[in-house]
Amino acid sequence: MRASTTGQASLALARTTPQNPSVPPRVFQLTGIDPKHQYELLAREISLLGTKDSSFPLDIPLDQVAISVPTEDLRALASQLERYRVPFWIQGGSPITDTQPMGLLRLCGEAASSGWEFLPTMRLVSSVMEIDLEKLMTQQPRGLAPWREFIRSQCGEDAERRFRRLADFGALLLKGATPMRLLEEALAVMKAADPERMSEAVKDMHNLDWTVRAVTSSIEEMEKKIFSLSEGLDLLGQAFQDPLNLRDAMEFLGIWGSSSYTVQDQPLDGAVRVYRDAPPVLAEHRLFVLCGADQSRWPGKLSESPMMGEPYRERVNSSFLERPDLTPTHLVSLHERRKAKEAMFIRMALAGRDAFVLTQGATDKDGRPVPPTPFARSLREMGAPAEDVNGPGDLLPSERFIRGVEFPRHPAPSWEEAGTTTYVVKVSPDEGGGKRRLPLSGLDSFVKCPFRYACENLLKIKPPERKPVPRFLLGELAHEAMKIASSRPNMSSPEEILDKVKALPSAEPILKPGRGRYLQRLSDMIGRGIDWLGARKKGLEENGLRLICSITEATLPGIEMDNHIGTGRADLVDVIECQGVRGYVILDFKTGFSSDYKDSLQVAAYAKALKAASSGEGIKELKGAKLLGFGFLSFSDMLDHLRWNSFTSEKSKSPNKDNCIGIMWTSRDGLGTPNLIQGAYRLYQPKGTTGDNAEEGSGGSKAGRDPIYAEDMISKASQAMEDLDEALRNGSFEAKHRYYTIRRDVCSKCPYGDLCRRLEAGHDFEEEQEGGEGDEL
Ligand code: SF4
Repeated sequence: MRASTTGQASLALARTTPQNPSVPPRVFQLTGIDPKHQYELLAREISLLGTKDSSFPLDIPLDQVAISVPTEDLRALASQLERYRVPFWIQGGSPITDTQPMGLLRLCGEAASSGWEFLPTMRLVSSVMEIDLEKLMTQQPRGLAPWREFIRSQCGEDAERRFRRLADFGALLLKGATPMRLLEEALAVMKAADPERMSEAVKDMHNLDWTVRAVTSSIEEMEKKIFSLSEGLDLLGQAFQDPLNLRDAMEFLGIWGSSSYTVQDQPLDGAVRVYRDAPPVLAEHRLFVLCGADQSRWPGKLSESPMMGEPYRERVNSSFLERPDLTPTHLVSLHERRKAKEAMFIRMALAGRDAFVLTQGATDKDGRPVPPTPFARSLREMGAPAEDVNGPGDLLPSERFIRGVEFPRHPAPSWEEAGTTTYVVKVSPDEGGGKRRLPLSGLDSFVKCPFRYACENLLKIKPPERKPVPRFLLGELAHEAMKIASSRPNMSSPEEILDKVKALPSAEPILKPGRGRYLQRLSDMIGRGIDWLGARKKGLEENGLRLICSITEATLPGIEMDNHIGTGRADLVDVIECQGVRGYVILDFKTGFSSDYKDSLQVAAYAKALKAASSGEGIKELKGAKLLGFGFLSFSDMLDHLRWNSFTSEKSKSPNKDNCIGIMWTSRDGLGTPNLIQGAYRLYQPKGTTGDNAEEGSGGSKAGRDPIYAEDMISKASQAMEDLDEALRNGSFEAKHRYYTIRRDVCSKCPYGDLCRRLEAGHDFEEEQEGGEGDEL
């Protein structure tokens, strides 16, 4: 056994179960890709604890679980536990930086440095006072004076006085102040929160008790700091006399805030306990986790003292043995420091009554590999079951099935293998036995990433909606409005149509108080959409074409493939006549920008469905009609003022990608020249390189670009449908990423990164949100 005598002594103290006090019962190791990832892995495992998907075969209640985390990583761990909805409380208080008063100071600095711009100031103001958001969004004050005026008129004199105090602090930050003055002013701002009044106000709301305690603690800590500084100011030298301006001032406050703590958090029932650094000596929990358990911390950097090297220390220590007349003393050697650290580690291991978990990142934050702690070997030598001390590869979830669907798993690939290792989801044939009916609108998702397509369309795994107004809702309501407007050409008043849309049950979320900006957007979308419908009718007449009828929500005949049937519904199909020849144009309304759809095959697939049907069974108005073109109309483009102004001016008569509000592919053999249709609809036709129709920006001279025609897109859509059919036949849908290769173009807005292991490989595009069709406007 390698544990030192000191280790055994601590051990005996730490254990209350006497059977075999020197052996940790089970030891697990969790290794993340990098330091941050270890906390994600840990939070995931704790949230799965007691289920069959857990890597720890233990059923332990959460209040019997404790985590020891290095202070500097406390925030990273807390945010991951919150993300996985694991309840926890921090023993020893939270850093002041994480409290509301410090947040207020930060927001103040941001608002002042922006020149009291709308958004940063709104964040500040809404965190300290009740404000009518609808009025705020309508008036959008900018600059200090307009903000003060707005607050006075909306919230009264008292609120304006509080805002003035914040503004004064912001001005001080910009001007610069000595550390002492800065702390005094920060204290005044914190005190303005008035904890006594606050506790009176929230006395029946026990969930807010902690907020009041945090505010009080922050004030007390700040007062202590001011007192200690004032006592020693004369001794502190020039550094404390120099003024600190914005960045330095915020950094100074931040450093103080992260090293000062609030009073002890209240223990929560059924919650995981988190220790900053080491737990108390007698701590004991059924499952104990030690984070950051790598060589850089355990034993950490043990270096010789520059004052006295190891040989001299040994000589001094032994000289006491030779000279009994000297008072015995002992200088600690490197070897002993290491032993003490090892003893401490083993004591921590034994704080876990049923299991001890070590977590670490395989690399440090700069990507350098970090070896595991050598003390883990000591645990094995003490008799901890060797099979439970897992290497990084074994710790990746071995469960291949999630809710019955197979996600084949294997250890993280090496760099050499990464480029060729594929990640797939296995989808079994439709349980009904027949062919699946799959919407053609999903074809673009399949082309982008088959794995994503399978999650979205076959397994129907939907990410939770977190926004107050659900994604798609504005788009859906605008679709409804366009449907009403194009099917009843005489009812063209936008107000009348908006009223009809507001009466729909699905419109309820945007009619709630404080959501006026959504209503305003919807009203703009409807107004402009109706203007466009009128402009396209006029455009057709000017080009000698006659609009016979418009079919909205046209159900398309299915495209029958070997393993599935492609189905769809077109938002708008215009039937047009020119000199006795009949043709049709298909349009889809999109909430996102049209540039996002320049490669889209969705409407091309619709055209394929209608083309096949126009010669036989299908929509009767289209019998014998020719395809003239298809495209997308974009609501986001319409709401872009510059673009809309160009569109409404004469400039859009020669459409290009900067003055159009949509995109269109015309047919080579439509009615007369393809330009006739494009000119009437005033939508932009994408161009490719002569000969191969490569997309714009992919090479080729400007002069050599030809328009991409409807027929080209239809043949691409046919190929994509063949590929989808093949994937369905094999039941295998491959992810586009290759572990260490970042595919930002494909993956940045995808919510399935957890399943395809993109996030596990560390490619986290946190700043980007799910978008596309549902982009918030
Ligand atoms: S993250 Fe990327 S590779 Fe993974 S499913 Fe999404 S799009 Fe596909």
